[in-house]
Amino acid sequence: MKRFIPLSIPNFEGNERKYADDAIVQGWVSTGGAYITEFEKRMANFLHTEEVAACQSGTAGLHLSLVESGVLQGDIVVAPTLTFIAAVNPIRYQFADPVFIDCDDSLCMDPEKLCRFCKEECFLQEDKLIHISTGKQVKAIIVVHVFGNLADMERIMEVAEQYHLKVIEDATEALGSKYTEGKYKGIYAGTIGDFGVYSFNGNKIITTGGGGAVTAKKPDFVKHIRYLSTQAKNDPHYYIHDEIGFNYRMTNVQAAIGVAQMEELLEFIQRKQENYTMYENFLIDFELGKLLKFRKGTFSNKWFYSLELDMDKLRGSLRDVITKLQEEGVQTRAIWGLIHEQTPYKNFVAYEIERASYYSSCILNIPCSTQLTKSDIRYVVEQIKKVLGEMKYE
Ligand SMILES: *Cc1c(COP(=O)(O)O)cnc(C)c1O
Repeated sequence: MKRFIPLSIPNFEGNERKYADDAIVQGWVSTGGAYITEFEKRMANFLHTEEVAACQSGTAGLHLSLVESGVLQGDIVVAPTLTFIAAVNPIRYQFADPVFIDCDDSLCMDPEKLCRFCKEECFLQEDKLIHISTGKQVKAIIVVHVFGNLADMERIMEVAEQYHLKVIEDATEALGSKYTEGKYKGIYAGTIGDFGVYSFNGNKIITTGGGGAVTAKKPDFVKHIRYLSTQAKNDPHYYIHDEIGFNYRMTNVQAAIGVAQMEELLEFIQRKQENYTMYENFLIDFELGKLLKFRKGTFSNKWFYSLELDMDKLRGSLRDVITKLQEEGVQTRAIWGLIHEQTPYKNFVAYEIERASYYSSCILNIPCSTQLTKSDIRYVVEQIKKVLGEMKYE
């Protein structure tokens, strides 16, 4: 039988079925129930933060963070162009405008370009940063910790402070990543900026099917986000609403799965580390591609693995590589298409995009599920070497 190795699949080896069944038996299947508070408590303990609000998705968490940041129509939010589009769409849900910034070699936002954008394309008017060419106020930055690799938060926070910008960390891919050196030593992704957002979609390091969570530097902001996520209902018994809310709360069934997944998080991270090391060893002398490293001075959850291909040495495109590997039973994918080139975003400002274009053309994500065995990884590497070898210029 031919092998098939998927890119990234969920792992339910623990108490997921037991807890989900319990939630159903108890009849608590909707947006109330003990598993939701338990899940929030476990997240907060893990992250060493006071309050976490569980919500419907990472996208919903990002939207709520923007609302809580006071981002409104006519404001500007700085965002990366090399990211999943869900990190950017909520800016438009608020009818604000994104400005796109390039990445550095970690694939995360380039802090120097961010700084240069603020310095050269904007000016400070009292404590407001105004974008010169549009006259709009820059209110916030969305920083994505791409594939579990931490962005340079030390530098980004300096820039944010200097220019009075709110920082929303999109830590949807980086639950469990933390700094091991520097100012933020021991601090987890998502707990440095004003807001931190996590996702528990199917392929994330832990999953609740769909789901997300938000934390914030100010615990009151998290409480207010929780209130907004439950239709901004003021009273448990009466339908009184002082604000416009959302139906963005996590359900108890999702949270039940989440509690089980939290029990396994450290184990999953451990496996991601081991699998990454195996790939590293198997690919050590490979001339047609190299495995991207994670930032120095950090402990990454190593959620996704990126192979940087030497496209100049290959006949054919990244798409050809993916198709051929698929035929050999190895599922891979290209990194995202740049957001500033996508139809809904073509008319927004993109500032000095260079590296993101390069990485977008040559990064291949390779299988990274926690269930991978050594034999699976050996097979994946053999197929990669074979397929790329056949595409190599003589
Ligand atoms: C997964 C992801 C999101 C969105 O999370 P959902 O839970 O799928 O809404 C946002 N940003 C990035 C970078 C992601 O990878």
